[in-house]
Amino acid sequence: MIGKPRGTRDFLPSDMKKRRKVESVMRNVFEKYGYEEVSTPTIENLELFTLKSGEQIMDEIYAFEDKSGRKIALRPELTAPVIRMYVEKLQMETKPLKFYYFGNCFRYDRPQKGRYREFWQFGCELIGTNRPEAIAELIAMAYDILKTIGLRNVVVRVGNLDILRRFLSTMGANDAEMMRLIDKKDFESIERRLGKEEFEKFMEFIETKNIDELEFEEANRMKEILSFLEEFSVPFNLDLSIARGLDYYIGTVFEIDAPKLGAEKQLCGGGEYNLITILGGRHVPTSGFAIGFDRALLALEMEGYTFEDENDIVYIAHMNMPREAIKVARMLRKEGIKAEMDLMARNIKKSLDYANRKGISKVVIIAPDEWERGEVIIKDMKSGEQKNVGINELFNRLQP
Ligand code: AMP
Repeated sequence: MIGKPRGTRDFLPSDMKKRRKVESVMRNVFEKYGYEEVSTPTIENLELFTLKSGEQIMDEIYAFEDKSGRKIALRPELTAPVIRMYVEKLQMETKPLKFYYFGNCFRYDRPQKGRYREFWQFGCELIGTNRPEAIAELIAMAYDILKTIGLRNVVVRVGNLDILRRFLSTMGANDAEMMRLIDKKDFESIERRLGKEEFEKFMEFIETKNIDELEFEEANRMKEILSFLEEFSVPFNLDLSIARGLDYYIGTVFEIDAPKLGAEKQLCGGGEYNLITILGGRHVPTSGFAIGFDRALLALEMEGYTFEDENDIVYIAHMNMPREAIKVARMLRKEGIKAEMDLMARNIKKSLDYANRKGISKVVIIAPDEWERGEVIIKDMKSGEQKNVGINELFNRLQP
């Protein structure tokens, strides 16, 4: 027997029903904010991801050479692909551009609950503005999406890399290695690097709860963004220890957690970044975020969210009358009703057993005498009630 690759999953019909439901809710929220969907290839030139992020990223990238020796990668995220598309095709378009996407990503991570090698991201990019109200709206939309799918307990943390870097500069510690340690929350190494006294100042700094306490010039714009965030009624915590993994982040950064998920609690990460010029385009401000779709579903399950699993298909049982069943099935499907006919030549009792096991609530029974009179039988599986109806009335009688 051949299994599936490590860190990948199959989705059964019951999983897909939940996934599609949550997907459609998320999609609707993006559209409500005027974002438009885009889609990019699953594979990209490897360079797109190594250009700025450095060779270190190679550890987690699925990469291979194609038959012509081109270096290709399975996308580990979607921001770089969307910005590549923008630089190639859309630089002249009227701003702001607001794109959202939903797609699978691949990372050679160590698999565990909430961490997979193939996972799905729902995300967006805002191109052409970095006004405080724009950044606030972006964060508010991420929060809105997670609340609208039904999550009760999410925590928004907002930080700022300009402020963090400015602070680190005062200690001569503003470099990529330091940002990496902060991103990993490796406080031991940070202390070793800064020394005891500076480390204490650092800890005091990242524990700042109120932006008004900061004197840096960079803090003024942040104050404005946070006050707009209040206007959107988004509850948030200031968290100056957010460093984000990739080097191209600048300015505002934010993360949203589902504390119940434990180690892999981060549902969403994003912020302002500068990638356009790295990819050869003309500078315009950009920001965005990505929601870990799989983790959002896990979080819903942890909160005990119940998905309705009512099976709303109509089942057509028949007494060895497949042609008549086809007629009824076609008629119902044409009216937009989901209809499934017996395909196993079952007798009526077995058909009803099947409908019961499948949680189907409405069965249409085709029997010779009734059919002669232009009628079929509708059986309501919940109440057990059964009645004859004219074939032409069937559609009306099946309306919820
Ligand atoms: P990132 O691009 O690393 O900021 O990731 C954005 C979001 O994707 C994270 O907040 C997670 O929710 C999700 N995510 C990242 N890596 C994985 C993974 N290996 N498996 C599942 N979800 C992931």
